[in-house]
Amino acid sequence: MSSQLSGQPILILKEGVERKRGRDAQSTNIMAAKVIADTVKSTLGPRGMDKMLVGSMGDIVVTNDGATILKEIDIEHPAAKMMVEVAKTQENEVGDGTTTAVVLAGELLKKAEDLIEQEIHPTVIAKGYRMAATKAKEIATEASVDISVDDDEIIRKVAMTAMTGKGAEKAKELLADIVVEAVKSVSVVKGSEVTVDKDQIKLEKKEGEGIENTELIRGVVIDKERVHSAMPKSVKDAKIALVDSAMEVKKTEIDAKINITDPNQLQAFLDEEEGMLKDMVERVKDSGANVLFAQKGIDDLAQHYLAKAGIFAIRRVKESDMKKLSKATGARIVSTLDDLSSDNLGVAGLVEEVKIGDDAMTFVRDCKDPKSVSILVRGGTEHIVDEVERALDDAIGVVASVFRDKKVVSGGGAAEVEIARGLREYAKGVGGREQLAIEAYADAMEVIPRALAENAGLDPIDVIVELRSENQKRGAKIGIDVFDGKAKDMYAEGIIEPLSVKTQAIDSSSEIAVMILRIDDLIAASSLGGGGAGGPPDMGDMGY
Ligand code: ADP
Ligand code: MG
Repeated sequence: MSSQLSGQPILILKEGVERKRGRDAQSTNIMAAKVIADTVKSTLGPRGMDKMLVGSMGDIVVTNDGATILKEIDIEHPAAKMMVEVAKTQENEVGDGTTTAVVLAGELLKKAEDLIEQEIHPTVIAKGYRMAATKAKEIATEASVDISVDDDEIIRKVAMTAMTGKGAEKAKELLADIVVEAVKSVSVVKGSEVTVDKDQIKLEKKEGEGIENTELIRGVVIDKERVHSAMPKSVKDAKIALVDSAMEVKKTEIDAKINITDPNQLQAFLDEEEGMLKDMVERVKDSGANVLFAQKGIDDLAQHYLAKAGIFAIRRVKESDMKKLSKATGARIVSTLDDLSSDNLGVAGLVEEVKIGDDAMTFVRDCKDPKSVSILVRGGTEHIVDEVERALDDAIGVVASVFRDKKVVSGGGAAEVEIARGLREYAKGVGGREQLAIEAYADAMEVIPRALAENAGLDPIDVIVELRSENQKRGAKIGIDVFDGKAKDMYAEGIIEPLSVKTQAIDSSSEIAVMILRIDDLIAASSLGGGGAGGPPDMGDMGY
Protein backbone atom coordinates (compact mmCIF):
# COMPACT_ATOMS: atom_id res chain seq x y z
CA MET A 1 0.00 0.00 0.00
CA SER A 2 1.58 3.22 -1.05
CA SER A 3 0.64 6.81 -1.47
CA GLN A 4 2.03 9.30 -4.00
CA LEU A 5 3.56 12.44 -2.59
CA SER A 6 5.51 14.63 -4.97
CA GLY A 7 6.26 11.59 -7.04
CA GLN A 8 7.78 9.60 -4.18
CA PRO A 9 5.83 6.55 -3.06
CA ILE A 10 5.57 6.38 0.72
CA LEU A 11 4.91 2.98 2.23
CA ILE A 12 2.46 3.15 5.11
CA LEU A 13 1.37 -0.39 5.63
CA LYS A 14 3.42 -3.55 5.83
CA GLU A 15 3.53 -5.72 2.76
CA GLY A 16 0.81 -8.35 2.68
CA VAL A 17 -1.65 -6.08 4.42
CA GLU A 18 -4.78 -5.74 2.39
CA ARG A 19 -6.72 -2.54 2.28
CA LYS A 20 -10.03 -1.59 0.76
CA ARG A 21 -11.43 1.90 0.94
CA GLY A 22 -14.55 3.91 0.38
CA ARG A 23 -17.17 2.23 -1.77
CA ASP A 24 -14.94 -0.73 -2.24
CA ALA A 25 -14.78 -1.44 1.47
CA GLN A 26 -18.50 -0.80 1.80
CA SER A 27 -19.59 -3.09 -0.96
CA THR A 28 -17.34 -5.92 0.19
CA ASN A 29 -18.77 -5.68 3.68
CA ILE A 30 -22.34 -5.39 2.50
CA MET A 31 -21.88 -8.31 0.17
CA ALA A 32 -20.54 -10.49 2.99
CA ALA A 33 -23.41 -9.52 5.28
CA LYS A 34 -25.96 -10.25 2.57
CA VAL A 35 -24.52 -13.70 1.96
CA ILE A 36 -25.02 -14.52 5.63
CA ALA A 37 -28.59 -13.21 5.57
CA ASP A 38 -29.36 -15.20 2.42
CA THR A 39 -27.94 -18.35 3.97
CA VAL A 40 -30.52 -18.37 6.75
CA LYS A 41 -33.42 -16.66 4.98
CA SER A 42 -34.83 -19.87 3.51
CA THR A 43 -35.23 -21.32 7.02
CA LEU A 44 -37.51 -18.50 8.23
CA GLY A 45 -40.95 -19.41 9.41
CA PRO A 46 -42.88 -22.63 9.89
CA ARG A 47 -42.51 -23.58 6.26
CA GLY A 48 -38.83 -22.72 6.09
CA MET A 49 -36.47 -25.43 4.94
CA ASP A 50 -33.85 -27.16 7.07
CA LYS A 51 -30.13 -27.00 6.49
CA MET A 52 -27.84 -29.97 6.68
CA LEU A 53 -24.43 -29.01 7.93
CA VAL A 54 -21.54 -31.40 7.68
CA GLY A 55 -18.56 -30.57 9.85
CA SER A 56 -14.94 -31.24 8.97
CA MET A 57 -15.12 -34.42 11.04
CA GLY A 58 -18.14 -35.62 9.10
CA ASP A 59 -20.54 -34.86 11.95
CA ILE A 60 -23.96 -33.87 10.75
CA VAL A 61 -26.37 -31.27 12.06
CA VAL A 62 -29.81 -30.92 10.52
CA THR A 63 -31.50 -27.76 11.69
CA ASN A 64 -33.93 -25.00 11.00
CA ASP A 65 -32.44 -22.75 13.61
CA GLY A 66 -30.65 -19.65 12.34
CA ALA A 67 -28.36 -19.27 15.32
CA THR A 68 -27.29 -22.89 15.12
CA ILE A 69 -26.51 -22.65 11.41
CA LEU A 70 -24.32 -19.62 11.93
CA LYS A 71 -22.64 -21.25 14.92
CA GLU A 72 -21.77 -24.36 12.93
CA ILE A 73 -20.38 -22.78 9.78
CA ASP A 74 -16.87 -21.48 9.77
CA ILE A 75 -16.97 -17.83 8.75
CA GLU A 76 -13.95 -15.71 7.96
CA HIS A 77 -15.05 -12.37 6.60
CA PRO A 78 -15.10 -9.75 9.38
CA ALA A 79 -18.43 -8.25 8.33
CA ALA A 80 -19.93 -11.72 8.10
CA LYS A 81 -18.65 -12.42 11.59
CA MET A 82 -20.39 -9.31 12.83
CA MET A 83 -23.63 -10.68 11.43
CA VAL A 84 -23.12 -13.86 13.42
CA GLU A 85 -22.83 -11.68 16.50
CA VAL A 86 -26.31 -10.33 15.75
CA ALA A 87 -27.68 -13.86 15.98
CA LYS A 88 -25.79 -14.50 19.21
CA THR A 89 -27.03 -11.31 20.83
CA GLN A 90 -30.59 -12.08 19.84
CA GLU A 91 -30.28 -15.61 21.22
CA ASN A 92 -28.81 -14.44 24.50
CA GLU A 93 -31.20 -11.56 25.05
CA VAL A 94 -34.54 -13.07 24.08
CA GLY A 95 -33.91 -16.66 23.00
CA ASP A 96 -35.71 -16.47 19.64
CA GLY A 97 -35.93 -14.42 16.47
CA THR A 98 -32.34 -15.04 15.41
CA THR A 99 -33.17 -15.61 11.77
CA THR A 100 -35.43 -12.57 11.77
CA ALA A 101 -32.66 -10.33 13.14
CA VAL A 102 -30.07 -11.55 10.64
CA VAL A 103 -32.42 -11.36 7.64
CA LEU A 104 -33.45 -7.87 8.69
CA ALA A 105 -29.84 -6.72 8.97
CA GLY A 106 -29.08 -8.08 5.50
CA GLU A 107 -32.09 -6.31 4.03
CA LEU A 108 -31.26 -3.01 5.72
CA LEU A 109 -27.83 -3.16 4.11
CA LYS A 110 -29.24 -4.09 0.73
CA LYS A 111 -31.58 -1.09 0.81
CA ALA A 112 -28.70 1.10 1.96
CA GLU A 113 -26.70 0.00 -1.04
CA ASP A 114 -29.47 1.27 -3.33
CA LEU A 115 -29.40 4.62 -1.53
CA ILE A 116 -25.62 4.85 -1.84
CA GLU A 117 -26.06 4.27 -5.58
CA GLN A 118 -28.31 7.33 -5.56
CA GLU A 119 -25.46 9.31 -4.02
CA ILE A 120 -26.92 9.49 -0.55
CA HIS A 121 -24.11 9.57 1.96
CA PRO A 122 -23.80 6.61 4.36
CA THR A 123 -23.82 9.03 7.29
CA VAL A 124 -27.25 10.26 6.26
CA ILE A 125 -28.47 6.72 5.84
CA ALA A 126 -27.10 5.81 9.26
CA LYS A 127 -28.94 8.73 10.82
CA GLY A 128 -32.19 7.86 9.07
CA TYR A 129 -31.87 4.23 10.11
CA ARG A 130 -31.34 5.21 13.74
CA MET A 131 -34.41 7.42 13.70
CA ALA A 132 -36.37 4.65 12.04
CA ALA A 133 -35.27 2.05 14.59
CA THR A 134 -36.41 4.21 17.50
CA LYS A 135 -39.74 4.86 15.83
CA ALA A 136 -40.13 1.21 14.83
CA LYS A 137 -39.89 0.13 18.46
CA GLU A 138 -42.50 2.71 19.42
CA ILE A 139 -44.86 1.48 16.73
CA ALA A 140 -44.35 -2.14 17.78
CA THR A 141 -44.98 -1.26 21.41
CA GLU A 142 -48.16 0.60 20.53
CA ALA A 143 -49.35 -2.41 18.54
CA SER A 144 -48.58 -4.81 21.39
CA VAL A 145 -51.07 -6.40 23.76
CA ASP A 146 -50.55 -6.45 27.53
CA ILE A 147 -50.96 -9.85 29.08
CA SER A 148 -50.81 -11.25 32.57
CA VAL A 149 -48.33 -13.94 33.59
CA ASP A 150 -51.30 -16.01 34.72
CA ASP A 151 -52.71 -16.06 31.22
CA ASP A 152 -51.66 -19.64 30.50
CA GLU A 153 -53.59 -19.83 27.26
CA ILE A 154 -51.76 -16.95 25.58
CA ILE A 155 -48.40 -17.96 26.98
CA ARG A 156 -48.85 -21.51 25.67
CA LYS A 157 -49.53 -20.01 22.25
CA VAL A 158 -46.35 -17.97 22.41
CA ALA A 159 -44.44 -21.16 23.20
CA MET A 160 -46.14 -23.00 20.34
CA THR A 161 -45.48 -20.22 17.84
CA ALA A 162 -41.77 -20.46 18.65
CA MET A 163 -41.82 -24.21 18.02
CA THR A 164 -43.95 -24.20 14.85
CA GLY A 165 -42.07 -25.76 11.96
CA LYS A 166 -39.26 -27.06 14.15
CA GLY A 167 -38.47 -30.70 14.77
CA ALA A 168 -40.72 -30.51 17.82
CA GLU A 169 -43.84 -29.59 15.83
CA LYS A 170 -45.48 -33.01 16.31
CA ALA A 171 -45.68 -32.72 20.07
CA LYS A 172 -45.86 -28.96 20.43
CA GLU A 173 -48.98 -28.97 22.62
CA LEU A 174 -47.34 -31.20 25.19
CA LEU A 175 -44.00 -29.39 24.92
CA ALA A 176 -45.70 -26.01 25.32
CA ASP A 177 -47.34 -27.23 28.54
CA ILE A 178 -44.00 -28.47 29.80
CA VAL A 179 -42.24 -25.22 28.96
CA VAL A 180 -44.87 -22.98 30.54
CA GLU A 181 -44.87 -25.01 33.71
CA ALA A 182 -41.09 -25.14 33.83
CA VAL A 183 -40.66 -21.39 33.41
CA LYS A 184 -43.41 -20.71 35.91
CA SER A 185 -41.76 -22.95 38.44
CA VAL A 186 -38.34 -21.30 38.29
CA SER A 187 -39.60 -17.73 37.98
CA VAL A 188 -39.23 -15.43 40.94
CA VAL A 189 -41.91 -12.81 41.45
CA LYS A 190 -41.15 -9.62 43.38
CA GLY A 191 -44.03 -7.21 43.21
CA SER A 192 -44.63 -6.68 39.51
CA GLU A 193 -41.08 -7.75 38.62
CA VAL A 194 -40.65 -11.27 37.37
CA THR A 195 -37.20 -12.73 36.87
CA VAL A 196 -36.52 -16.04 35.21
CA ASP A 197 -33.19 -17.80 35.42
CA LYS A 198 -33.28 -20.00 32.33
CA ASP A 199 -30.26 -21.94 33.59
CA GLN A 200 -32.52 -23.45 36.22
CA ILE A 201 -34.32 -25.42 33.54
CA LYS A 202 -32.06 -28.33 32.75
CA LEU A 203 -32.51 -30.11 29.46
CA GLU A 204 -31.30 -33.69 29.70
CA LYS A 205 -31.27 -35.48 26.35
CA LYS A 206 -31.71 -39.23 25.88
CA GLU A 207 -32.38 -40.67 22.48
CA GLY A 208 -35.01 -43.34 22.24
CA GLU A 209 -38.82 -43.46 22.39
CA GLY A 210 -40.80 -40.61 20.83
CA ILE A 211 -40.86 -36.86 21.32
CA GLU A 212 -44.18 -37.35 23.13
CA ASN A 213 -42.32 -39.14 25.91
CA THR A 214 -40.51 -35.93 26.78
CA GLU A 215 -41.19 -35.25 30.42
CA LEU A 216 -41.00 -32.45 32.97
CA ILE A 217 -39.40 -33.42 36.25
CA ARG A 218 -40.24 -31.17 39.20
CA GLY A 219 -36.75 -31.59 40.45
CA VAL A 220 -33.52 -32.69 38.85
CA VAL A 221 -32.45 -35.50 36.54
CA ILE A 222 -28.89 -36.65 37.05
CA ASP A 223 -27.25 -38.78 34.42
CA LYS A 224 -25.73 -41.13 37.00
CA GLU A 225 -26.60 -44.27 38.90
CA ARG A 226 -26.39 -45.10 42.57
CA VAL A 227 -22.95 -46.19 43.68
CA HIS A 228 -23.88 -49.57 45.13
CA SER A 229 -26.38 -52.15 43.91
CA ALA A 230 -27.40 -53.02 47.47
CA MET A 231 -28.76 -49.50 47.94
CA PRO A 232 -32.51 -48.98 47.54
CA LYS A 233 -33.49 -48.25 43.96
CA SER A 234 -36.10 -45.75 45.02
CA VAL A 235 -36.69 -43.70 48.11
CA LYS A 236 -40.04 -42.12 48.92
CA ASP A 237 -40.19 -38.97 51.05
CA ALA A 238 -36.52 -38.43 50.42
CA LYS A 239 -34.45 -36.47 52.92
CA ILE A 240 -31.53 -35.29 50.86
CA ALA A 241 -28.01 -34.45 51.95
CA LEU A 242 -25.70 -32.51 49.60
CA VAL A 243 -22.03 -32.80 50.46
CA ASP A 244 -19.22 -31.24 48.47
CA SER A 245 -16.33 -32.95 50.24
CA ALA A 246 -15.02 -36.47 49.69
CA MET A 247 -16.22 -39.42 51.75
CA GLU A 248 -12.76 -40.86 51.66
CA VAL A 249 -9.84 -40.98 53.98
CA LYS A 250 -7.31 -38.59 52.57
CA LYS A 251 -4.82 -40.48 50.43
CA THR A 252 -1.81 -38.75 51.92
CA GLU A 253 -2.61 -40.21 55.31
CA ILE A 254 -2.30 -43.69 53.93
CA ASP A 255 0.13 -43.32 51.06
CA ALA A 256 2.84 -41.66 53.05
CA LYS A 257 5.80 -43.92 53.39
CA ILE A 258 5.31 -45.98 56.45
CA ASN A 259 7.74 -48.56 57.59
CA ILE A 260 5.67 -51.43 58.63
CA THR A 261 7.57 -53.78 60.73
CA ASP A 262 4.90 -56.19 61.70
CA PRO A 263 1.54 -57.19 60.15
CA ASN A 264 -0.41 -55.95 63.15
CA GLN A 265 0.61 -52.42 62.33
CA LEU A 266 -0.93 -52.63 58.87
CA GLN A 267 -4.09 -54.03 60.33
CA ALA A 268 -4.21 -51.11 62.75
CA PHE A 269 -3.98 -48.66 59.88
CA LEU A 270 -6.75 -50.39 57.97
CA ASP A 271 -8.90 -50.54 61.06
CA GLU A 272 -8.41 -46.86 61.63
CA GLU A 273 -9.38 -46.06 58.06
CA GLU A 274 -12.46 -48.21 58.34
CA GLY A 275 -13.39 -46.55 61.58
CA MET A 276 -13.16 -43.12 60.02
CA LEU A 277 -15.32 -44.11 57.06
CA LYS A 278 -17.86 -45.77 59.31
CA ASP A 279 -17.98 -42.62 61.35
CA MET A 280 -18.68 -40.53 58.23
CA VAL A 281 -21.58 -42.76 57.30
CA GLU A 282 -22.89 -42.52 60.86
CA ARG A 283 -23.03 -38.76 60.55
CA VAL A 284 -25.03 -38.95 57.36
CA LYS A 285 -27.37 -41.41 59.02
CA ASP A 286 -27.68 -39.32 62.18
CA SER A 287 -28.75 -36.27 60.21
CA GLY A 288 -31.80 -38.23 59.11
CA ALA A 289 -30.80 -38.30 55.44
CA ASN A 290 -31.85 -41.25 53.32
CA VAL A 291 -30.36 -39.86 50.09
CA LEU A 292 -26.84 -38.53 49.63
CA PHE A 293 -25.40 -36.60 46.69
CA ALA A 294 -21.64 -36.22 46.95
CA GLN A 295 -19.75 -33.86 44.70
CA LYS A 296 -16.53 -35.82 45.26
CA GLY A 297 -15.79 -39.50 45.66
CA ILE A 298 -17.24 -42.04 48.05
CA ASP A 299 -14.86 -44.76 49.24
CA ASP A 300 -15.86 -48.36 48.49
CA LEU A 301 -16.10 -49.15 52.15
CA ALA A 302 -18.25 -46.09 52.79
CA GLN A 303 -20.49 -47.20 49.94
CA HIS A 304 -20.89 -50.53 51.65
CA TYR A 305 -21.89 -48.92 54.96
CA LEU A 306 -24.22 -46.49 53.24
CA ALA A 307 -25.93 -49.39 51.50
CA LYS A 308 -26.22 -51.18 54.82
CA ALA A 309 -27.87 -48.09 56.26
CA GLY A 310 -30.40 -48.07 53.38
CA ILE A 311 -29.13 -44.77 52.02
CA PHE A 312 -29.31 -44.03 48.31
CA ALA A 313 -26.05 -42.37 47.27
CA ILE A 314 -24.48 -40.89 44.15
CA ARG A 315 -20.90 -39.67 43.88
CA ARG A 316 -19.04 -37.20 41.67
CA VAL A 317 -22.12 -35.11 41.00
CA LYS A 318 -21.26 -32.05 38.90
CA GLU A 319 -21.06 -28.79 40.81
CA SER A 320 -23.78 -27.29 38.59
CA ASP A 321 -26.05 -30.21 39.40
CA MET A 322 -25.35 -29.82 43.12
CA LYS A 323 -26.55 -26.24 42.88
CA LYS A 324 -29.66 -27.30 40.98
CA LEU A 325 -30.36 -29.98 43.57
CA SER A 326 -30.07 -27.35 46.25
CA LYS A 327 -32.54 -25.04 44.48
CA ALA A 328 -34.95 -27.86 43.75
CA THR A 329 -34.99 -29.58 47.13
CA GLY A 330 -34.10 -26.75 49.48
CA ALA A 331 -31.03 -28.62 50.77
CA ARG A 332 -27.93 -26.68 51.76
CA ILE A 333 -24.66 -27.86 50.32
CA VAL A 334 -22.33 -28.62 53.22
CA SER A 335 -18.56 -28.82 53.05
CA THR A 336 -17.95 -30.98 56.07
CA LEU A 337 -20.05 -33.74 57.46
CA ASP A 338 -19.99 -31.94 60.81
CA ASP A 339 -22.37 -29.39 59.32
CA LEU A 340 -24.84 -32.01 58.29
CA SER A 341 -28.05 -31.75 60.29
CA SER A 342 -31.73 -32.18 59.66
CA ASP A 343 -32.00 -28.42 59.01
CA ASN A 344 -29.69 -28.66 56.03
CA LEU A 345 -31.48 -31.52 54.33
CA GLY A 346 -33.67 -31.09 51.29
CA VAL A 347 -36.86 -32.93 50.50
CA ALA A 348 -38.30 -34.64 47.45
CA GLY A 349 -41.36 -36.82 47.05
CA LEU A 350 -39.34 -39.49 45.32
CA VAL A 351 -35.77 -40.23 44.40
CA GLU A 352 -35.35 -43.15 42.04
CA GLU A 353 -32.98 -44.76 39.65
CA VAL A 354 -34.60 -45.59 36.32
CA LYS A 355 -33.18 -47.24 33.26
CA ILE A 356 -33.64 -44.97 30.26
CA GLY A 357 -32.43 -46.68 27.11
CA ASP A 358 -29.13 -48.28 28.03
CA ASP A 359 -28.30 -45.99 30.91
CA ALA A 360 -29.49 -45.75 34.45
CA MET A 361 -30.40 -42.21 35.49
CA THR A 362 -31.43 -40.75 38.81
CA PHE A 363 -34.63 -38.76 39.10
CA VAL A 364 -35.26 -36.43 42.00
CA ARG A 365 -38.98 -35.91 41.62
CA ASP A 366 -41.96 -34.16 43.16
CA CYS A 367 -40.09 -31.41 44.92
CA LYS A 368 -42.19 -28.81 46.64
CA ASP A 369 -42.01 -25.46 44.81
CA PRO A 370 -38.74 -26.37 43.04
CA LYS A 371 -36.71 -23.39 41.84
CA SER A 372 -34.85 -25.69 39.50
CA VAL A 373 -36.48 -28.24 37.21
CA SER A 374 -35.42 -30.64 34.47
CA ILE A 375 -36.85 -31.67 31.16
CA LEU A 376 -35.98 -35.15 29.95
CA VAL A 377 -35.91 -34.75 26.17
CA ARG A 378 -36.76 -37.86 24.16
CA GLY A 379 -36.82 -38.59 20.45
CA GLY A 380 -36.08 -41.38 18.01
CA THR A 381 -32.58 -40.38 16.98
CA GLU A 382 -29.79 -38.15 18.10
CA HIS A 383 -30.66 -35.58 15.42
CA ILE A 384 -34.28 -35.44 16.51
CA VAL A 385 -33.38 -35.07 20.18
CA ASP A 386 -30.99 -32.25 19.29
CA GLU A 387 -33.58 -30.42 17.21
CA VAL A 388 -36.22 -30.86 19.92
CA GLU A 389 -33.75 -29.43 22.42
CA ARG A 390 -33.24 -26.36 20.21
CA ALA A 391 -36.99 -25.91 19.84
CA LEU A 392 -37.43 -26.19 23.61
CA ASP A 393 -34.65 -23.66 24.07
CA ASP A 394 -36.48 -21.18 21.84
CA ALA A 395 -39.78 -21.83 23.59
CA ILE A 396 -38.21 -21.39 27.03
CA GLY A 397 -36.66 -18.16 25.74
CA VAL A 398 -39.93 -16.66 24.53
CA VAL A 399 -41.92 -17.70 27.58
CA ALA A 400 -39.24 -16.22 29.85
CA SER A 401 -39.34 -13.01 27.77
CA VAL A 402 -43.11 -12.77 28.09
CA PHE A 403 -42.90 -13.32 31.83
CA ARG A 404 -40.44 -10.46 32.03
CA ASP A 405 -42.11 -7.89 29.76
CA LYS A 406 -45.73 -9.07 29.64
CA LYS A 407 -46.27 -7.68 26.14
CA VAL A 408 -46.94 -9.65 22.97
CA VAL A 409 -47.44 -8.92 19.27
CA SER A 410 -48.97 -10.86 16.38
CA GLY A 411 -46.73 -13.04 14.22
CA GLY A 412 -46.81 -14.07 10.59
CA GLY A 413 -45.35 -10.72 9.55
CA ALA A 414 -48.19 -8.75 11.19
CA ALA A 415 -45.90 -6.69 13.42
CA GLU A 416 -43.49 -5.98 10.57
CA VAL A 417 -46.24 -4.82 8.20
CA GLU A 418 -47.58 -2.53 10.89
CA ILE A 419 -44.11 -1.12 11.56
CA ALA A 420 -43.56 -0.53 7.83
CA ARG A 421 -46.86 1.31 7.56
CA GLY A 422 -46.16 3.46 10.59
CA LEU A 423 -42.65 4.27 9.40
CA ARG A 424 -43.82 5.42 5.97
CA GLU A 425 -46.21 7.80 7.65
CA TYR A 426 -43.50 9.02 9.99
CA ALA A 427 -41.04 9.52 7.10
CA LYS A 428 -43.38 12.01 5.42
CA GLY A 429 -43.05 14.33 8.37
CA VAL A 430 -39.27 14.05 8.48
CA GLY A 431 -38.48 15.17 4.96
CA GLY A 432 -35.04 15.65 3.49
CA ARG A 433 -32.75 12.83 2.59
CA GLU A 434 -33.38 11.08 5.91
CA GLN A 435 -36.91 10.54 4.68
CA LEU A 436 -35.55 8.29 1.96
CA ALA A 437 -33.56 6.30 4.50
CA ILE A 438 -36.60 5.86 6.75
CA GLU A 439 -38.67 4.73 3.78
CA ALA A 440 -35.93 2.26 2.87
CA TYR A 441 -36.05 1.00 6.46
CA ALA A 442 -39.82 0.53 6.15
CA ASP A 443 -39.38 -1.47 2.95
CA ALA A 444 -36.70 -3.58 4.65
CA MET A 445 -39.11 -4.55 7.46
CA GLU A 446 -41.34 -6.20 4.89
CA VAL A 447 -38.61 -8.71 4.09
CA ILE A 448 -40.04 -10.80 6.94
CA PRO A 449 -43.55 -11.38 5.54
CA ARG A 450 -41.98 -11.63 2.09
CA ALA A 451 -39.61 -14.39 3.18
CA LEU A 452 -42.39 -16.18 5.08
CA ALA A 453 -44.44 -16.15 1.87
CA GLU A 454 -41.57 -17.20 -0.37
CA ASN A 455 -40.65 -20.08 1.89
CA ALA A 456 -44.25 -21.27 1.76
CA GLY A 457 -44.24 -21.20 -2.03
CA LEU A 458 -46.57 -18.20 -2.13
CA ASP A 459 -46.15 -15.18 -4.40
CA PRO A 460 -44.43 -12.61 -2.21
CA ILE A 461 -45.70 -9.61 -4.15
CA ASP A 462 -49.33 -10.71 -3.94
CA VAL A 463 -48.91 -11.40 -0.26
CA ILE A 464 -47.39 -7.99 0.51
CA VAL A 465 -50.07 -6.16 -1.46
CA GLU A 466 -52.81 -8.02 0.38
CA LEU A 467 -51.18 -7.59 3.78
CA ARG A 468 -50.78 -3.84 3.29
CA SER A 469 -54.38 -3.39 2.33
CA GLU A 470 -55.73 -5.66 5.08
CA ASN A 471 -53.50 -3.88 7.60
CA GLN A 472 -55.11 -0.58 6.54
CA LYS A 473 -58.57 -2.03 6.98
CA ARG A 474 -58.19 -4.27 10.02
CA GLY A 475 -55.06 -3.16 11.85
CA ALA A 476 -51.87 -4.46 13.36
CA LYS A 477 -52.86 -8.07 13.91
CA ILE A 478 -53.12 -9.02 10.25
CA GLY A 479 -50.41 -11.37 9.08
CA ILE A 480 -49.99 -14.15 6.60
CA ASP A 481 -51.11 -17.69 7.42
CA VAL A 482 -48.39 -19.57 5.60
CA PHE A 483 -50.42 -22.76 5.55
CA ASP A 484 -53.25 -21.45 3.36
CA GLY A 485 -51.79 -18.21 2.06
CA LYS A 486 -54.55 -16.03 3.52
CA ALA A 487 -54.22 -12.75 5.37
CA LYS A 488 -55.69 -13.35 8.83
CA ASP A 489 -55.94 -11.98 12.33
CA MET A 490 -52.86 -13.82 13.57
CA TYR A 491 -53.62 -13.03 17.20
CA ALA A 492 -56.91 -14.87 16.90
CA GLU A 493 -55.05 -17.68 15.12
CA GLY A 494 -52.76 -17.99 18.12
CA ILE A 495 -49.60 -16.94 16.27
CA ILE A 496 -48.22 -14.73 19.00
CA GLU A 497 -44.71 -13.57 19.83
CA PRO A 498 -43.12 -11.56 22.62
CA LEU A 499 -42.74 -7.87 21.83
CA SER A 500 -39.15 -8.10 23.03
CA VAL A 501 -38.24 -10.53 20.24
CA LYS A 502 -39.23 -7.85 17.74
CA THR A 503 -37.68 -4.89 19.52
CA GLN A 504 -34.45 -6.78 20.07
CA ALA A 505 -34.33 -7.76 16.39
CA ILE A 506 -34.84 -4.11 15.45
CA ASP A 507 -32.10 -2.99 17.82
CA SER A 508 -29.46 -5.48 16.87
CA SER A 509 -30.10 -5.46 13.12
CA SER A 510 -30.09 -1.66 12.98
CA GLU A 511 -26.94 -1.39 15.04
CA ILE A 512 -25.04 -3.80 12.85
CA ALA A 513 -26.31 -2.21 9.63
CA VAL A 514 -25.26 1.24 10.80
CA MET A 515 -21.92 -0.04 11.99
CA ILE A 516 -21.14 -1.73 8.67
CA LEU A 517 -22.34 1.32 6.72
CA ARG A 518 -20.02 3.63 8.60
CA ILE A 519 -16.93 1.62 7.73
CA ASP A 520 -15.14 3.15 4.76
CA ASP A 521 -11.77 1.60 5.30
CA LEU A 522 -11.03 -2.06 5.66
CA ILE A 523 -7.47 -2.89 6.63
CA ALA A 524 -6.68 -6.54 7.05
CA ALA A 525 -3.43 -8.03 8.28
CA SER A 526 -3.96 -11.03 6.06
CA SER A 527 -5.82 -11.54 2.83
CA LEU A 528 -9.57 -11.22 2.97
CA GLY A 529 -9.82 -13.92 0.32
CA GLY A 530 -11.58 -13.81 -3.01
CA GLY A 531 -13.82 -10.83 -2.29
CA GLY A 532 -12.96 -8.08 -4.71
CA ALA A 533 -15.53 -5.33 -5.07
CA GLY A 534 -18.68 -7.07 -6.14
CA GLY A 535 -17.00 -10.44 -6.02
CA PRO A 536 -18.17 -13.20 -3.72
CA PRO A 537 -16.98 -12.67 -0.16
CA ASP A 538 -15.03 -15.41 1.47
CA MET A 539 -17.26 -17.52 3.64
CA GLY A 540 -14.32 -19.57 4.78
CA ASP A 541 -14.58 -23.30 5.00
CA MET A 542 -18.28 -23.98 5.24
CA GLY A 543 -17.44 -27.64 5.57
CA TYR A 544 -19.78 -28.70 2.81
P1 ADP B 1 -36.58 -16.95 14.01
O1 ADP B 1 -35.22 -17.56 14.13
O2 ADP B 1 -36.49 -15.53 13.55
O3 ADP B 1 -37.41 -17.12 15.20
P2 ADP B 1 -38.34 -18.84 12.75
O4 ADP B 1 -37.95 -19.81 11.69
O5 ADP B 1 -38.62 -19.36 14.10
O6 ADP B 1 -37.25 -17.71 12.78
O7 ADP B 1 -39.63 -18.07 12.21
C1 ADP B 1 -40.24 -17.06 12.93
C2 ADP B 1 -41.28 -16.40 12.12
O8 ADP B 1 -42.30 -17.31 11.75
C3 ADP B 1 -41.97 -15.27 12.87
O9 ADP B 1 -42.08 -14.15 12.05
C4 ADP B 1 -43.33 -15.87 13.20
O10 ADP B 1 -44.34 -14.88 13.33
C5 ADP B 1 -43.57 -16.72 12.01
N1 ADP B 1 -44.58 -17.77 12.23
C6 ADP B 1 -44.61 -18.72 13.18
N2 ADP B 1 -45.71 -19.50 13.04
C7 ADP B 1 -46.39 -19.03 11.98
C8 ADP B 1 -47.61 -19.40 11.31
N3 ADP B 1 -48.31 -20.44 11.70
N4 ADP B 1 -47.99 -18.67 10.23
C9 ADP B 1 -47.24 -17.64 9.81
N5 ADP B 1 -46.10 -17.25 10.38
C10 ADP B 1 -45.68 -17.93 11.46
MG1 MG C 1 -38.16 -18.83 16.04
